[in-house]
Amino acid sequence: MTPIYELIRGTSPLIISMPHSGLELPAELAERMTPVAKSLKDTDWHIPQLYDFVKELGATVIKANYSRYVVDLNRPASGESLYPGQATTGTCPVITFEDEPLYLAGKEFTDTELPQRIAAYWQPYHYALAAEIERVKTEHGFCLLYDAHSIRSHVPRLFEGELPTLNLGTARGESCDSELSEKLESVLAGQSQFQWVANGRFVGGYITRHYGQPDNGVHAVQMELAQSAYMAEDDSNAYLPEKAAVLQALLRQLLQTMLQWRSGH
Ligand SMILES: [Zn+2]
Repeated sequence: MTPIYELIRGTSPLIISMPHSGLELPAELAERMTPVAKSLKDTDWHIPQLYDFVKELGATVIKANYSRYVVDLNRPASGESLYPGQATTGTCPVITFEDEPLYLAGKEFTDTELPQRIAAYWQPYHYALAAEIERVKTEHGFCLLYDAHSIRSHVPRLFEGELPTLNLGTARGESCDSELSEKLESVLAGQSQFQWVANGRFVGGYITRHYGQPDNGVHAVQMELAQSAYMAEDDSNAYLPEKAAVLQALLRQLLQTMLQWRSGH
């Protein structure tokens, strides 16, 4: 069996989490799923490739190997909604972002499966992430957590119109020191190539909200990127290296800002 996650340990206080870039579906699940589910269309495509440069920053990287359709690592194990009253997808999603069924008729997911799915796929990622946060805190006295995401730039069921390229989420100011978020926002405000927003439609999911505890030395941010900035948003899902390079330069600047913020203390 493919391991649940891949962990590459670095030397700096920065941890990059990639919970939605996994491409594996266990065989017993794939045989219950629709063709659109097996296309993995809601994947945070190419996030590991886009952030490949972070090894030069000494970052620790933890990335999921299994698809978000198996279990969503950025949702609470309890299954409760992240965005009450708004359209979203659950801890074990049963539909795509566009409301298409993931499971074949007669082979649907039932809530009685949730505990097993949590134990087998959700818990191992979170045990590892929590352990890395503790390790980094022990080594550096604090931890910077960056939860890396991307989504198609148009998903009418989830948001109106076109998503800004960069969507910074700090749980509306709760998940990191206010000075850090101000510095990140000033980097974003200091460029004009990309649209951006802080705490807009995406404020940070479970990972940002749960682990981001600035009073306890853990400063977490979520970055939700519009995929149009680095890949083809068609069935090819092709990575576009030249386009990506422009975005990467800004992402690098943001991550360097995180690292420099704390080294000044
Ligand atoms: Zn995501």
